[in-house]
Amino acid sequence: MKNDLNNNARFIFLIKTVHIKHVSKTRPANTASHAKKIVPSAAFSTRVLKWFDQHGRKDLPWQQNINAYRVWVSEIMLQQTQVKTVIPYFEAFMQRFPTIQSLAKASQDDVLHHWSGLGYYSRARNLHKSAQQVCDIYSGDFPQSIEQLIELPGIGRSTAGAIAAIAFGEHCSILDGNVKRVLARHFAVEGWPGKSAVADHLWGYAEAHTPKQRVADYTQAMMDLGATLCTRSKPNCPECPVQQSCQALASNQIALYPGKKPKKVIPVKTTEMHIVVNTEGHVLLQKRPPTGIWASLWSLPEGELLHQQLQLDEGQRWPEIRHTFSHFHLDITPIQYRSNCDHTLMEPDQWLWYDLNQPAEVGLAAPVSKLIAKLKTS
Ligand code: SF4
Repeated sequence: MKNDLNNNARFIFLIKTVHIKHVSKTRPANTASHAKKIVPSAAFSTRVLKWFDQHGRKDLPWQQNINAYRVWVSEIMLQQTQVKTVIPYFEAFMQRFPTIQSLAKASQDDVLHHWSGLGYYSRARNLHKSAQQVCDIYSGDFPQSIEQLIELPGIGRSTAGAIAAIAFGEHCSILDGNVKRVLARHFAVEGWPGKSAVADHLWGYAEAHTPKQRVADYTQAMMDLGATLCTRSKPNCPECPVQQSCQALASNQIALYPGKKPKKVIPVKTTEMHIVVNTEGHVLLQKRPPTGIWASLWSLPEGELLHQQLQLDEGQRWPEIRHTFSHFHLDITPIQYRSNCDHTLMEPDQWLWYDLNQPAEVGLAAPVSKLIAKLKTS
């Protein structure tokens, strides 16, 4: 990491940062026993597989040189993120961390840097922790059982199913966002899949229709079907291999499935972010605490600055920007300052003069990346 801090500090910044509680991810429960009795249709998987053979994507980067590590990284990146966005990140990640051992040994800053822009950074932190656990506990070889896989940080039931099915050919099912959409529409499963009863019902369909043969291809096929044909807003039903049995299509009620998340008004919080620029054009960044929002990422300082010691000018307010988390909006007022002081600081692991022309390889909070890009062009 490149910065020009040193330990002969002369100034310490006293800055209060906004701490907001982290909401932990919950894993789906293993609830197949609660699902309704489902009579599977063998024609479903046969049609899906036939379609995959003829039209499915087989040239995605994670479909080459398949192993558990590559499947796992791709599955985590694809959560909440589209394939076309993920491809360059996956390729850069694999180039930098080609093996689980290389990921386990890397610094957290390095991992977060390669995740910068993908969002949902807890995914990257969990990926890093899981790599270390797989190396420590399993000597670097992924466990093959669902039970052991879901013990690893950030691996839920669907991701575990995808790893076991695609990398090891185990008879396991998945239920990611794309598959939920296909199954909810095809079998007219009502309700929001975030509710456990609805998820149980969908898991029942997923498990009942996963074939014993070609489970890896079927898993890829279902994800592909949801991503390319049974899309959120414009499903291409005329091309769909299961159109003749799709209940949502038959009743002309596709828009009802899957059920929408109940609308909730989320609160708005506010903060000021200080863009302190020194005489060399470097920007002051502060490392976030290891828990809470943007945990362990580098961000612009918030709260009070010691104006006198930093020899700051009056500052110039930029237009407010909004960043939305799942549970609140954050309205950010950026304020740009020029600083004329000698910029030696204490705690170089907490503070960084970020060189815009030779950026340090660290993970940045999403709005900070945007503000820095704006600063570069202003
Ligand atoms: S027929 Fe249409 S709505 Fe039904 S599963 Fe296929 S693409 Fe989705």
